[in-house]
Amino acid sequence: MKTYVGKSVYHGIAIGQIQIFKKEKKSVYRSRIEDVQQELAKMENAVKEAKEQLKKLYEKALLEVGESGAAIFEVHQMMLDDQDYQESIQNMIQTQQINAEYAVAVTADNFANMFAMMDDAYMKERAADVRDISERLISILTEAQSEEVTADVPTIILADDLSPSETVQMDKSRVNSFVTRYGSANSHTAILARTMNVPAIIGLDYDEEIDGKKAIVDGFKGELIVEPTDELLAEYEDKAAQEVEKKLLLLELKGKETVTLSGREIRLYANIGGISDLQSVMLNDAAGIGLFRSEFLYLEKDHYPTEEEQFQIYRSVAETMAGKKVIIRTLDIGADKQISYFGLEKEENPAMGYRAIRICLKRVELFKTQLRALYRASAYGNIGIMFPMIISVKEVKQIKEIVEEVKAELKENGILYGEVELGIMIETPAAVMISEDLAKEVDFFSIGTNDLTQYTLAIDRQNAKLDDIYDSHHPAVLKMIQMTVENGHKGGAWVGICGELGADLTLTDTFVEMGVDELSVSPACILPIRKKIRDHR
Ligand code: PEP
Ligand code: MG
Repeated sequence: MKTYVGKSVYHGIAIGQIQIFKKEKKSVYRSRIEDVQQELAKMENAVKEAKEQLKKLYEKALLEVGESGAAIFEVHQMMLDDQDYQESIQNMIQTQQINAEYAVAVTADNFANMFAMMDDAYMKERAADVRDISERLISILTEAQSEEVTADVPTIILADDLSPSETVQMDKSRVNSFVTRYGSANSHTAILARTMNVPAIIGLDYDEEIDGKKAIVDGFKGELIVEPTDELLAEYEDKAAQEVEKKLLLLELKGKETVTLSGREIRLYANIGGISDLQSVMLNDAAGIGLFRSEFLYLEKDHYPTEEEQFQIYRSVAETMAGKKVIIRTLDIGADKQISYFGLEKEENPAMGYRAIRICLKRVELFKTQLRALYRASAYGNIGIMFPMIISVKEVKQIKEIVEEVKAELKENGILYGEVELGIMIETPAAVMISEDLAKEVDFFSIGTNDLTQYTLAIDRQNAKLDDIYDSHHPAVLKMIQMTVENGHKGGAWVGICGELGADLTLTDTFVEMGVDELSVSPACILPIRKKIRDHR
């Protein structure tokens, strides 16, 4: 037994098998083989196995992200069957008597380079797909029995760090906790862990050889206990069972209203990153969705999602929520969320750089594509749209002009759309200071306390070294929230909080007293907050 200690960013107990998430490509060495037929057979089996894996991934993606998101796994199956690709590998094995994985690696390089040099943008993108299927084959060939990509065991994911695009690809049905060497308490891995309601630890330095071992994640103490004794395991199994019981108790609050004892109702909404979170939204009885981080649709793709692809997803969320409010935030990339196909330049100070609405107002066609998809989807439910990183009234006016253009175009083309509430995120001190003027322009505010804390305290939320002083309870942050609520109401806008602080139970009473109208939190936080609000005098 060995215990590693890090910093907990989400509580809970998880017991499972460790899987170290490796980013680096495996090194493949050339070796001479004796038996060509045996190597060809090995190759054939690897292709079969890869196709099986892809079939399962397709089915999983279909459930989680729908047809358009799943299609890539079908394309990969077809690419594995490509005659030129297969022949290249087989020829190399036969004529040079080399090992299969080396033949795959060389073929992958040749084909990827060939695709990358093509003029056609679609064909260029296939280079990444060739690399992807080849890496899958190489993993199978080099660790024939150990990958277990689709094994159905509860899994503890260990990694140096995880980017948002990596986390969206994970098999959420079996991942029961996250442990990373780096990352910060406010990174998107931590947020994802909260959304999935699984424990997460950061800043934990582990040894590589613990891969595959049984372990316990104690999200209360920030501990990873590898190969626990039977006695400790039994103790933790008890604790985990108690946790489940607590959760069941909270479920009694399902279907109850979120009102204080004096009769004030607070709207309790959920934060989501995609369709796969909807199940948890329903399970935890959210009254609506207060923040759909739409950039995840862009992050999980290797191309700009088309209007149609976006429309299908927004429509499906709106329909699933059946008339309950669904607030979708427009693209918020840059800073910690980078997407290679956007071709953004590296910046000295990305958190204060070209991000979010700043990109949308420069790349208006990209913005309009998303707005068209959103307005089309508004005919199928109760959609609200909000805009991130606002700093001026001028920006809001510009946005509203673009929105009017989009509506006029849709009307001209006879495309129906519904009534849409427009709001902005208040996540910069500038927006707080001019919130009374901003409120006159919009229907609602949603306070993004993650960024508001970052910009108010001048502390990079991604910098783990500063976690100790990144303090969302700082009086300056709380005063900003108070001011936003007062000014919002004066200017006629309702005011919610969608940053992580909204889920802080030690502040629920304060927020109710400040006059906050809505709290939007990770689905798993909804019922504990409902309990707190129902107990508020
Ligand atoms: C925030 O900044 O508080 C917020 C909700 O947005 P994100 O965490 O996605 O930046
Ligand atoms: Mg933000």
